[in-house]
Amino acid sequence: MELWFSERYTPNAQFSIRVDKQIFSTQSEFQRIDIFDSPEFGRFLALDGYLMCTEKDEFIYHEMIVHVPMAVHKNARKILVIGGGDGGVVRELVRYDRVETIHLVEIDPEVVQACKNYMPFTAGWLNDPRVTIFYEDGLKYIRRQVEEYDLIIVDSTDPFGPGEGLFTKEFYGNCFKALKEDGVMVNQHESPFYENDAVAMQRAHKRIVQSFPISRVYQAHIPSYSSGHWLFGFASKKLHPLRDFDPESWKALNIKTRYYTTVLHTGCFALPAYVEELLREVE
Ligand code: SAM
Repeated sequence: MELWFSERYTPNAQFSIRVDKQIFSTQSEFQRIDIFDSPEFGRFLALDGYLMCTEKDEFIYHEMIVHVPMAVHKNARKILVIGGGDGGVVRELVRYDRVETIHLVEIDPEVVQACKNYMPFTAGWLNDPRVTIFYEDGLKYIRRQVEEYDLIIVDSTDPFGPGEGLFTKEFYGNCFKALKEDGVMVNQHESPFYENDAVAMQRAHKRIVQSFPISRVYQAHIPSYSSGHWLFGFASKKLHPLRDFDPESWKALNIKTRYYTTVLHTGCFALPAYVEELLREVE
């Protein structure tokens, strides 16, 4: 008998992965947490039936959400990660010697525990001495922060369920307030392809543009995410993702990556015409 994990993108399109075994499953206070083993994508985490990260392609997402802002903000030392319970963002951040403090604000301790137990390839760096985990709602945590952080990375679930509040104007306005005068916020910015995803992306983009003077969008190809075409938001008080990018200084750090390159850094901000149009509609 074959077992398949499917994520439905629309009533007429879904993505399915054949599964060897279900490794873990629980219903936490916030969401259903499942971990599976699969022949094609390796071990993967799903929350409320939505794919979060797979062993095979999580490096793409985690490299792109971390190295793009870290290559622009060369003095980023105090960093806030909101969401990110699988640990992949932290794994990429601790590769920078200059990083002094990482605050991870994750609403669900059971996600962290499950990933520590079963997803060591992403959660294996959460015990780094620079990391402090706060188990609370990022929407509430950010209200208390004023000019605290150099970089905020919003690595949330999608804009429904516990993640809904992390796509609001109030949240983005408070992220602006929580950043230092040259601070940067990067967020997972959903996908432009399917109608519902595109509407969610436009809604988030409109609210970010209203909160930050500089707001650009970049892209990556993530096979296990909706349509494979994924976007990231780069919002900033002062630093521009391309004008203030110095490839040589990032290369001098000698950080080995499998997806991010300094050439791709420039290229990923070049978006398809239909995506530019979707963004222009709400700017
Ligand atoms: N990379 C994945 C993606 O792009 O879909 C998401 C990674 S991570 C698993 C998402 C995390 O956000 C989850 O662990 C979830 O518990 C957390 N989360 C959702 N809503 C939150 C909130 N309001 N405050 C803090 N963490 C939240």
